[in-house]
Amino acid sequence: MTTLPEETPANDSSSPVDHDVAVAGGGAAGLAAAVFTARYGLDTVVFDGGKAAITQCAHIENYLGFPGGIAPDRFLELGRAHATHEGATMVDERVTAVDRHDASGFVVETTDQPVVADRVVIAAAYDAEVLDRLAEELPSPDPFAPTEGGRTNVDGLYVAGWMSDETVHQVGVNAGHGARAGLALARDDMSERYWPAVGDRYVDWVVHDGRYGGDGWDEHVDEWFDDEMLPEEHDLDKTTVDAARTDLKTEFLGRCIDTEERRRRDRDGQRQLLTHLDDDLIREHAETLDQRP
Ligand SMILES: Cc1cc2nc3c(=O)[nH]c(=O)nc-3n(C[C@H](O)[C@H](O)[C@H](O)COP(=O)(O)OP(=O)(O)OC[C@H]3O[C@@H](n4cnc5c(N)ncnc54)[C@H](O)[C@@H]3O)c2cc1C
Repeated sequence: MTTLPEETPANDSSSPVDHDVAVAGGGAAGLAAAVFTARYGLDTVVFDGGKAAITQCAHIENYLGFPGGIAPDRFLELGRAHATHEGATMVDERVTAVDRHDASGFVVETTDQPVVADRVVIAAAYDAEVLDRLAEELPSPDPFAPTEGGRTNVDGLYVAGWMSDETVHQVGVNAGHGARAGLALARDDMSERYWPAVGDRYVDWVVHDGRYGGDGWDEHVDEWFDDEMLPEEHDLDKTTVDAARTDLKTEFLGRCIDTEERRRRDRDGQRQLLTHLDDDLIREHAETLDQRP
């Protein structure tokens, strides 16, 4: 049982959920998970309290995309900026415990207010104690035994990154594992809304305009949907089936961008990177550009 103070909204079983997803831990794994769940459209909060393992590293030199390496603090700053850009909320508080909520979901107790979340990702590296209250429901003796996509025995609870026995202790691998957990969570959400074959199809892709769609595309997808996505025998109502079909089509078409938008996003992405670089280095580089013939 949780021991929340009487007045907190989280203690009231009729209170609405505060967040769709709460992530405990804002290192590479937790931030990567948050990017995926926020982009999928879930209200995501990341609680981070303490020092990420990577701050013990002097200079990261094996993370793809940084040819000269990157300082750990700058790396985490970029990760937080990315998760925030996608719509996640960052809260600098430690999670002290996670427990089941009376109604559904989880109560996430923090050093400040408790919150209620539908689903929880634990990416707290060494701090396994946050899961003590759910210990009986997790496998024994190894509560973090590998599972697909960070899923655990407890529905709606995921374990990502360093903490999971699924990974080795390398930042690129742990970020990838966080992404897997975030994707698994999004797929589980979609499976719950429709049925698993639909959820299992979810991917987070942005594609060139025209890559999907066009003549005959609608009919082709309808055919595919009826042949491969619909369970052979089902008692799904028409509204649910139509909504699943529309959602799948939107997944392909909703993230198409044309050349102009692609250029705009490229420039915007570069500008955002600039704000995380040392101003003196930017000035120094600009001067070399000025001196070019
Ligand atoms: C000395 C050292 C050097 C390393 N050098 C390299 C290297 O050069 N290259 C490489 O690939 N890997 C390196 N690693 C490994 C790398 O740091 C980890 O694999 C990776 O950072 C783990 O990511 P994570 O998100 O799982 O955990 P973390 O980065 O540790 O993130 C966990 C986050 O959760 C927070 N947290 C913990 N408990 C709670 C809680 N209860 N509530 C809220 N937040 C909480 C922590 O403050 C932290 O921010 C090194 C590790 C060490 C120790």
